[in-house]
Amino acid sequence: MQIVLATRNLKKAREIRKILKGLNVEFLSLKDFPEIQKIEEKGRSFSENATLKARKVACLTKRISLADDSGLEVDALGGRPGIYSARFARNDRERNRKLLRLLKNIPASKRKATFRCAVAIAWPNRRTQVLEGRYRGKIAFKERGKAGFGFDPIFIIPRYNKTFAELGLKIKNRISHRSQAFRKAKKILEKML
Ligand code: IMP
Repeated sequence: MQIVLATRNLKKAREIRKILKGLNVEFLSLKDFPEIQKIEEKGRSFSENATLKARKVACLTKRISLADDSGLEVDALGGRPGIYSARFARNDRERNRKLLRLLKNIPASKRKATFRCAVAIAWPNRRTQVLEGRYRGKIAFKERGKAGFGFDPIFIIPRYNKTFAELGLKIKNRISHRSQAFRKAKKILEKML
């Protein structure tokens, strides 16, 4: 069976493929469907956005689709950037710089933040199921580490006192918001196959 991962972010797709390893499925991504245009994230929550993307891709490709919507909620910013994480600035580097600038005068004890991820599984008949995961950590004072993507270099995992970018994908995929949500999705797909 084929399942379409509704993402063009290669690093995200890599993380997801690793988490879902072992399923008897051929994973395609939006790179295999260049005719599908960018899907607007018009929802008001992570789960609405994930549902929107998964439904659209399932409908256009006539295959089961998996979409995730994720982002970072920073306590000191009242939950921003949240669902607007990808639109917070032009690219990863600028997003990290902007966040560090906004938190410049915030002490370590008030730099808590939550990574959130919603995964939607959509079937071509419009049935949809949403699974969620979250991970709580702290925003660093400067970028640390080279692995991963997005806010990984500034997100500290308190248990290790290291950022996701310092810890690397193996540990990130054991604990992250995305791995929690996709592990739940994996259980559903395992039952179905
Ligand atoms: P989207 O889920 O593709 O809309 O993008 C969410 C944005 O949140 C990304 O561009 C990243 O900036 C950020 N983000 C989501 N998950 C992660 C993660 O696991 N590590 C670092 N940044 C993330």
